[in-house]
Order: sequence, then structure tokens, then C-alpha cells
Amino acid sequence: MSFDPGQGDGFRAEVRDWLAAHVPAQPLPSVDTAAGFAAHRAWERELAAARLSVVSWPPEYGGRGASLPEWLVFEEEYYAAAAPVRVGQNGLFLLAPTLFAHGTAEQRDRLLPPMARADEVWAQAWSEPDAGSDLASIRATATRAEGGWLLSGTKTWSTRAAFADRAFGLFRSDPGAERHRGLTYLLFDLHADGVTVRPIRQLGGGTGFAEIFLDGVFVPDADVVGAPGEGWRIAMSTASHERGLSLRSPGRFTAAAARLVELWQRAGDPADTALRDRVVDAWIGAQAYRRHTFDTAARLAAGGTLGAESSLGKVFWSELDLALHETALDLLGPLAEVDGLPGADGCWLDGYLFALAGPIYAGTNEIQRTVIAERLLGLPR
Ligand SMILES: Cc1cc2nc3c(=O)[nH]c(=O)nc-3n(C[C@H](O)[C@H](O)[C@H](O)COP(=O)(O)OP(=O)(O)OC[C@H]3O[C@@H](n4cnc5c(N)ncnc54)[C@H](O)[C@@H]3O)c2cc1C
Repeated sequence: MSFDPGQGDGFRAEVRDWLAAHVPAQPLPSVDTAAGFAAHRAWERELAAARLSVVSWPPEYGGRGASLPEWLVFEEEYYAAAAPVRVGQNGLFLLAPTLFAHGTAEQRDRLLPPMARADEVWAQAWSEPDAGSDLASIRATATRAEGGWLLSGTKTWSTRAAFADRAFGLFRSDPGAERHRGLTYLLFDLHADGVTVRPIRQLGGGTGFAEIFLDGVFVPDADVVGAPGEGWRIAMSTASHERGLSLRSPGRFTAAAARLVELWQRAGDPADTALRDRVVDAWIGAQAYRRHTFDTAARLAAGGTLGAESSLGKVFWSELDLALHETALDLLGPLAEVDGLPGADGCWLDGYLFALAGPIYAGTNEIQRTVIAERLLGLPR
């Protein structure tokens, strides 16, 4: 297949033109604040009205049936235009692929259209105070009730749960079963009776991150994804999207690499060849990740599946993101910490702070390296 699908064709041009006309001239307030969340939701609705919020989904759910490579093209244009953070990303990029693979037709019909319009924004409720890397040790429970399940326990580190509408979580439904077996994947309303959401204030001042306390929260059978007890298998399907293709598409990194090269041209010291080489390495890394991802998309389009190799991508993109931002900070020196002065560029600092989290979320890089060692390389446990 062509390595540059969509280049110069109508789709890329349409996306580019639409974004040029619609991306807000001033960045929206942080998505991790109540006002910023609302502004980002409004932006999602604008995208959805142009049928650009979920281009790869079938038309009946608000998409255009675009191929995976076309979706990657959309993402490249989106990041190149410095368009707003996708407030619905957990639903769009994690839950939706899971519903396409494991949900029922009824669930897809009911849940996907409001997700595409950001009428329902989803949070991921997996981690618990004593279960992060070792996700199979979760303790929050789902207990059988008339027509459904009652959820109890504590979830934490749930991105934007403070402002989101619904959550997808993993619960222990059979305490007697072997730990990976007794889990069920359930969807619940963050505003339901018995749910308390407590924001966790972050260093940057945002309050989107949250703990979720559940006390006998009723969930109907219709909101079980897959069968009861199958939660681990379904969660691993979600996780392969989180680590692999969908959450961090290469457009994010090629756009940052292009900005880094511009920054070097504007502010770099030609005598500093070591820093120049880091700029070049970061740019090459972004191009390599792009090539790898288009190859993966081609493989998936030919019927392949995404499994443990998504761990390779996760380690690569998270370390690349750090390298891009660290190089920019070193290039800017003290000017990285301010905005508004000639030559200053404070947004690299925000990006750096977020990049620091990359080796942690979506499964820490230590855990990914274990997966790579055991499942891809066949090394002993
Ligand atoms: C920005 C951000 C957003 C997040 N969003 C969400 C979200 O929306 N929903 C959600 O459910 N969770 C979310 N998380 C939580 C994230 O999934 C967990 O932080 C992550 O899985 C690690 O779990 P932990 O924090 O409990 O650390 P721990 O599991 O306690 O790990 C602590 C350290 O020990 C290391 N370690 C642990 N076990 C091993 C091992 N077997 N071998 C080698 N090293 C090991 C880890 O690599 C890590 O360095 C988010 C986290 C961050 C930082």
C-alpha cells in the first residue's frame, strides 16, 4: 500500500480546510477544569456536526466508514492544526473499539451515537488504590441482583471522571474464581444513586482526575459488556487499543517533531551539535512510529489482530514523547518556563509535564517490558 494514504487526496484536503476554518484561534481552557471540559464538549459537537468526530465508524453511528489509514490521516491533520484535546477520547478510542469487538448490536445502537456527539463522555474506571499494575487484583465487586448487578468499592486515577457522564469498569463478580476469571466488564452512570466522585487536584491545578466510590450502584444486565466472568479478556482487548493504535496515533508525535524542528531553526545554537542530534533523533523517532503504525493499520485491514506487540508501541511512543519535550526544554532553557516574552514558549512545559505520565498510564513501561520479554521474545518468566 502507499505509505502516504490520503496525501493530496480529497479527504486530507477536506479535513485540513475544515480545521483551518474552525479550530479556535485561542487555545480552549484546560480540559481538566469544569469550564474547559464544557468548552471541549462544545468543540466535539462542532466536530460531530461536520461528521468528523468519529470518521472511522460506520455512518449509522455518526462516522464516515473511513479506513484505518484514513483515520491516521485525519489524526495527522488534527494534530498539525493544533486542534483541541479530544475530551471524549476514553470513550472514542478505548470503549468504542471494545464495543465494536465485544458489544451487542443493541449496545452499539444505544451507546455509540451519543458518544460520537459527546452527549455522553466516558471515563475509565479500572485502577483501584491497591490495584494498578496488578489489575487482576481488583477488589471492587459486582453482586448479582434482580435484573442486573450491584457495584461496590473504590476506583481511582480516573481521567476526567469529575466531569464525565458514564464510566466503563472492571469488577470482581465471582470472588471464588481464580483471580483473572471472576471479573466482569460493566458500564455505569457516574450520576447514579450510590456513586460519589471526588476530584483529585493535580499539580497544574486541574481537577478532572478523580476517585470514584461505589455503594450498591445498580447496573442493568444490558450494561454488561461480553458475558459475566469474561471481563479480563475484554479488558485486554481495550488495553491493546490503549497501548497500541488508537489512543496515541502518530500524528501527535509528527506534529510535535515538526514544531521541534521549527524551534531549532528559530532558537537553536548551530554550534551545539549534541542538541541538534537530539532534535534529529526525535524527528526520526516520530517518523519511525508513523511508519510502524501505518504498517500495523495495513496488517489489521488484512485481517490481522493487535495483541502483545501493542506493548512495543506503548514503550516507544511514551519515551518518544518525553524525548521530544525534554529536547525542546533544553533548547529553550529558562524561556521554557514563561509565556509572552520574545522567544518564550511555555506550552512545551505543559506538554512535558503530561509526557512524564506517559510511562505510567496505559500500563507502566516496566510492565510492558515484561510483556515484551515473556510474550514476544519468549524469555523465561
Ligand atoms: C495521567 C494518568 C492517567 C490515568 N488515567 C487512568 C484512568 O482513566 N483510569 C484508570 O483506571 N487508571 C488510570 N491511571 C492509572 C494507571 O493505569 C496506573 O497508575 C498504572 O496502571 C500504575 O498503577 P499504580 O499507579 O497503582 O502503580 P503500581 O502498580 O503500584 O506501580 C508502582 C511502580 O512499581 C512498578 N511495578 C509494579 N509491579 C511491577 C512488576 N511486576 N514488575 C516491575 N515493576 C513493577 C511499576 O512499573 C511502577 O513503577 C492513570 C494514570 C496516570 C498517570
